[in-house]
Amino acid sequence: MTARILVVDDIPANVRLLEVRLLAEYFEVLTATNGPDAIETCENGKVDVVLLDVMMPDMDGFEVCRRLKSDPATSHIPVVMITALDQVSDRVRGLEAGADDFLTKPVNDLQLMTRVKSLVRLKSLTDELRLRASTTRNIGIEELLSRNFASEDTAPKVLLIDERKSSVERIQKMLRDRADLDVSGDPHAGFFQAAETSYECVMISTAFADFDPLRLCSQLRSLDRTRFVPIILLADEGEEERIIRGLELGINDYLMRPIDQQELTARLRTQVRRKRYNDQLRASVTQTIEMAVTDGLTGLHNRRYLDSHLQTLFDRAVARRRPLSVMITDLDRFKSINDAHGHDGGDEVLREFARRLRKNVRGIDLACRFGGEEFVVVMPDTDGAVAEKVAERIRAEIAQKPFAIGADGKTIEVTVSVGVSSVLKGVDTVAALMKRADLALYEAKSGGRNRVVAKAA
Ligand code: GH3
Ligand code: MG
Ligand code: MG
Repeated sequence: MTARILVVDDIPANVRLLEVRLLAEYFEVLTATNGPDAIETCENGKVDVVLLDVMMPDMDGFEVCRRLKSDPATSHIPVVMITALDQVSDRVRGLEAGADDFLTKPVNDLQLMTRVKSLVRLKSLTDELRLRASTTRNIGIEELLSRNFASEDTAPKVLLIDERKSSVERIQKMLRDRADLDVSGDPHAGFFQAAETSYECVMISTAFADFDPLRLCSQLRSLDRTRFVPIILLADEGEEERIIRGLELGINDYLMRPIDQQELTARLRTQVRRKRYNDQLRASVTQTIEMAVTDGLTGLHNRRYLDSHLQTLFDRAVARRRPLSVMITDLDRFKSINDAHGHDGGDEVLREFARRLRKNVRGIDLACRFGGEEFVVVMPDTDGAVAEKVAERIRAEIAQKPFAIGADGKTIEVTVSVGVSSVLKGVDTVAALMKRADLALYEAKSGGRNRVVAKAA
């Protein structure tokens, strides 16, 4: 895993020190000795993690962090604050400024590497999602990203897995009104609960009498449903080794007992904010992809989707020596429907046609709006004779029941012509298959419309 780390410190010797250690681990290193330079470097892109000194003249680390986190162009870059003292108040100020993590000077080597690697991993996930969102752009990605992803309107849904009653009560008190907290006193039951409910954070105590808490962490990380849920470990003094193992397993953060309320709420907020950001990004990617392959008027797949999937279905049928048929449907005299009932009336007919079409094909069939008033259905595992019957059923379904138009109960008669073709054994191509269906459709039109013509294989 290689990544570009920006080291920011006003004292050049400190910069050098971190630089050398990061270079030894094959990270790429950029440096800055003041806040404005650091911000400019981040704006120019390609920074994966920022290691940021708190104490700097003019613009201190808190201010730099706040500015990075409030600019949509840089807010996704993880920031690690480096504080001179292990002061809880500094940590809290940093977390309020949006920092993702902390290290204390002198910086412990192992902690530096684990923290940096864990943040790089998280960042690459975010990057992947951002990239997919922008390459499948259909709705403005910038607008999406500038929406307040870090929405904190609702209390986060959190699961605490801890068998010590007193500790549970203390945390419940600290998070009252700040989180929607569920508690499980048993690690096995807690694991199932985490898998069944979608939590925004799982907090795991290390203090089980008879159970290894890291096992729970690794189980949560290996299950699809919980792979991305933030995990915060609640550890005791002296458990540094365990925390480092935990970070390697993919926990996101930890707190040392005795737990400070401000630090607990601030760290929880950081995790939830990042999770919500990634969740929304993931949802928008999925939505964008769906929009790109769906016809807006009818909700059926569109031509782009057909173009990318027909070849796959065709190849599969040929490889498995299974039949495959396609039908092209075209509404009859549709122009006159538009002329008589307006474009909106025509749209209503198209939507109703799509509904009836969908009702008459199987789940594995691929029904698409090919364009205008033409639709295509691809039917795997279906030979020409069966496909012809399906086409006839659809034709009858359209012709027999008049279509309702407008709100006043007006109905009109609609008919459709259908061309059917099937994959020929031996040499055949997708283009030839579609061409034969198109010729069949043409014959249906010239033969008088409201009929099905199948091109015999
Ligand atoms: P034929 O029986 O030969 O198929 O005649 P037709 O009038 O259906 O065929 P033609 O291809 O000449 O006309 C199709 C019409 O469909 C023309 C176009 O304006 C209309 N159309 C295409 N897309 C839409 C749409 O999304 N909504 C509506 N309302 N009309 C559309
Ligand atoms: Mg047409
Ligand atoms: Mg037509």
